[in-house]
Amino acid sequence: MITRRYMQAYMLLAAIGLFGVLVVLYGTRNPHIEALVVGVAVALIVPVPLIWLLQKLGYPIGKAVHCARCDAELPAVRRPANIRQAMLGGYTCTKCGAELDARGRERAAS
Ligand SMILES: [Zn+2]
Repeated sequence: MITRRYMQAYMLLAAIGLFGVLVVLYGTRNPHIEALVVGVAVALIVPVPLIWLLQKLGYPIGKAVHCARCDAELPAVRRPANIRQAMLGGYTCTKCGAELDARGRERAAS
């Protein structure tokens, strides 16, 4: 299912891919237009299986994450509240203040 969250994740990955393609071609002295077309096509297609794979692995990419305690939808762009969150991912629920991991599960207070 294509949701707004999915499109955000897709656009982000596609933008990174396109940037990579442009950097590689920029470093090539005589880039062929075919290489550009193939590179852009790959950059646009790769995010689809990549997001699928990450979702299979349990990462909530392209999906809304909900708080395990109060079920509030967590923002797509999170501001880490501490160094552990910045390193490992995770949220502090804006509604109930629960500490959650990157998948929205409640984390035991430490
Ligand atoms: Zn909550």
